[in-house]
Amino acid sequence: MTDPPFDIPFKSPHIPAALSADTRIRFRCYKGISCFNACCRQADVTLAPYDILRLKRRLGLSSSELLNQYTVPFQMDQDGLPGVKLKTRDDGTCLQLDGEAGCSVYEDRPTVCRYYPVALLTLREKGSSQAEERYALVKEDHCKGHEEDRQIRVGDFRAEQGCAEYDQRNREWYRLILKKRSAGPAVGKPPPVSLKLFFMASYDVDNFRHFVLSDGFRRTYVLPDGLYARLEGDDEALLSFGYRFLRQVLFGERTIEEVANAWAQRVENRRQVWEARRQAERERRMAEEDRKYQDGRDT
Ligand code: SF4
Ligand code: SF4
Repeated sequence: MTDPPFDIPFKSPHIPAALSADTRIRFRCYKGISCFNACCRQADVTLAPYDILRLKRRLGLSSSELLNQYTVPFQMDQDGLPGVKLKTRDDGTCLQLDGEAGCSVYEDRPTVCRYYPVALLTLREKGSSQAEERYALVKEDHCKGHEEDRQIRVGDFRAEQGCAEYDQRNREWYRLILKKRSAGPAVGKPPPVSLKLFFMASYDVDNFRHFVLSDGFRRTYVLPDGLYARLEGDDEALLSFGYRFLRQVLFGERTIEEVANAWAQRVENRRQVWEARRQAERERRMAEEDRKYQDGRDT
């Protein structure tokens, strides 16, 4: 038995036959093949965090600009865990497709595009604490690469497509989602604030940086010397830190040390703010009553 897989692409309705890195597949894709770019005209590309880093740098955008201009949101599970996909034209063509020239961001194309027609699965055997990576072959009518006369090991195909760096940067995030999916009702439905934090730490890395460097965050969490400086200038380090932070947010794991009494202090601060607001409202009402009384005497 295995836990349900976390798979790239995410659309598989069932657990497909899992292949290993040593499995040989028949496939070849090249400029000039009869179906060249057919896959990019029916694009269903779910993005992982490192995909966003690469694309935002490639396009010279902030993460918020990239998300606004080039992605659409969707829900990854019944609890509303947020995901993002590449935006397409109405006919399903990816916005990054540059006519016959092909993909305009090829060197920085997302994980799903690199792996296609292989799907990456992250799954765990029942009773094992280790998440494992397996693969599945996606066969779609438009893709003629399966008819080419080339046998290749999945592991070699993965290397050919430059997947290793992407997998390494996204691995902890895949595991986080697998854990959320495997735990099911045991961890319960995350509250809206946790879903917002998940979105920010996973996809909107520039906003996540503002959040981590804010005074409120520093008052709440204790980070080792030098880590703040690193997080200020290193997107990859920030991504890894975000995965750690999300384990705390989603599963209550103590992955980041909290300042002693930080929670009590936050509650106290909030109480003082509310009390100040109530006092201001009382004073406003008294001033209003006073004004009405004065108006009544003058007439
Ligand atoms: S990002 Fe590039 S490879 Fe991926 S679907 Fe778009 S055009 Fe195709
Ligand atoms: S062979 Fe498949 S992956 Fe390659 S261009 Fe054709 S449809 Fe896309």
